[in-house]
Amino acid sequence: MARLELKGLPVAPGIVVGATVLVDAHEDLGRERHISADQVDAALHHFEEARQRAMRSLERVQGATAQELGLQDAAIFGAQIAVLQDPAALDEIRQLVREQLHAPESAIQTVVEKFGKLFEALEGGDIKNWAADLRDPWHAVQRELALERDDALATDAEGGPIILVADELVPSLLTRVPRQRLAGLICARGGRFSHGAVVARSFGVPTVTGVEQIISRATAGEQIVLYATAGRVLLGANAEEQAAAQQRSDEQAAIQGRLIEESRTPAVTRCGLEVPILVNVESPRDLQAIDAARVEGVGLFRTEFAYMERPTFPAVAEQAEMYREVLRHFPDKPVVFRTLDIGNDKQLRYFETPEEANPALGWRGLRLGLHWKDLLLAQIQALIEAGDAGDVRVLLPMVTLLDEVRETRALIRAALPPEMKMPPLGCMIEVPAAAMALRDIAPEVDFVSVGTNDLVQYLFAVDRDNPWVADLYQPYHPAHLRVLDHIAKTCKEAGIPLSVCGEMAGEFEGALFLLGVGVGQLSVASPFVPQLKALIRRFSQGELEELARAAVACDSAEAAHGLLHAASQRAWDELVQERMPSRS
Ligand code: PEP
Ligand code: MG
Repeated sequence: MARLELKGLPVAPGIVVGATVLVDAHEDLGRERHISADQVDAALHHFEEARQRAMRSLERVQGATAQELGLQDAAIFGAQIAVLQDPAALDEIRQLVREQLHAPESAIQTVVEKFGKLFEALEGGDIKNWAADLRDPWHAVQRELALERDDALATDAEGGPIILVADELVPSLLTRVPRQRLAGLICARGGRFSHGAVVARSFGVPTVTGVEQIISRATAGEQIVLYATAGRVLLGANAEEQAAAQQRSDEQAAIQGRLIEESRTPAVTRCGLEVPILVNVESPRDLQAIDAARVEGVGLFRTEFAYMERPTFPAVAEQAEMYREVLRHFPDKPVVFRTLDIGNDKQLRYFETPEEANPALGWRGLRLGLHWKDLLLAQIQALIEAGDAGDVRVLLPMVTLLDEVRETRALIRAALPPEMKMPPLGCMIEVPAAAMALRDIAPEVDFVSVGTNDLVQYLFAVDRDNPWVADLYQPYHPAHLRVLDHIAKTCKEAGIPLSVCGEMAGEFEGALFLLGVGVGQLSVASPFVPQLKALIRRFSQGELEELARAAVACDSAEAAHGLLHAASQRAWDELVQERMPSRS
């Protein structure tokens, strides 16, 4: 087929080349089929057996996931088993078979569609994912029922790498082919915060979502090149392109191995300035993959994910235990806990928020916490209790106004026993108004952390998850760079420590710029730590400042990114050359 380059939203990073396996492309297991009255008993028996087989297979995956990744990840498959035990759905399916003589596969389809429509009629980003959570396990039963041997799927553990191409990013994709062969995932639909995305990241499978019409554009068996970090998909790549990607992928793996060995020591610039590198953590489940000795602490613990993965609000004691678990993993190091940042695309299924026309501009983050003060206070209480296990710091998301910070500080003060010291309190700067009013906010906080993911979204009036406007989302545009420069100068004048925890801090170009404008520390996803440390060691503070000055003075994102990229690429090439002289 002709070469075709497509764009999607990165979910889990990496570069891979593999053979295309299409999932669900032509399956029509749910087409309407009827049986005769004398087949009803056999059909119900057949249905029950298939349901049991599907549950056993989910239990096996659940057990393997629990061993490999821990109970939190395994819980997703537990929830899928519970879906197959739902009495309401079971009654309706059996009734359709008995009374309307539906074949079980089509009875399942009818019920799943009915429930799915109910969920889809509800507003809220995460609720939309529930329909997928429901469809996925029932689809497994349909497959069992049809006793379909899907020849398109490679079930042999031996063989080359596979890239699964599917319509929707759902957890069961990770179990469709043997793990050792699963190189990547490309999907048309499925949110970056869907369960499928959570599992793909945990398994470390390079994944991209939001690739339009991918099912009809990809061809089974053909080699695909997936640059997941950049959200790039190359269909029909020629041999040269495949070889180039494979080489980059191999190089990355080899160099990553060396850099991991070197990353136990701090990142110190050529002129002797130590740059603390901290880590972003989404859930206690991430901890086992993080070596605390390689980072200076946690710069952002996104507490909402632990809430999102549960069926109900955690009690204060439960929350405190979770926070202690994180603190114990980083003895003697600071852990910055961000208070609940729910709303918009991060919804709790057990906490109904009002319907909003523009949820990203609506009731989220601290706005919600200051309205539902009991929620915020329960979390503060848990953090205070966990304080016996380590160095707790509190970070407020989506701060817009100085008054919000003052009100929160007063709430925390009132919740503390009088003799207890206030934990260090920081505010995220991710709303442009807060960035411009930082001079007034700074005296009220102990530290500042910039969320570039949202800051870019709000500065450019561009939805960060919407592929239609993705080209207007420009972290390296001078407008954003100048705001970052302003933030850094304001924090310096106010004598307030400044960190950046948005994705930009984990990119080479972004890190060089941020350190150049005077950001004191970076907090990044853990896989980026080794490369970042190695890169920082190759620059002096003077060089970084000069680069940042030049980037701020540019008139386009291309120009600014271009010069930062050239500098980082040069440094990277030298670094690779030193470690792998045989490469050139
Ligand atoms: C950000 O907005 O940059 C950030 C770190 O927060 P989140 O991505 O969780 O919104
Ligand atoms: Mg944010």
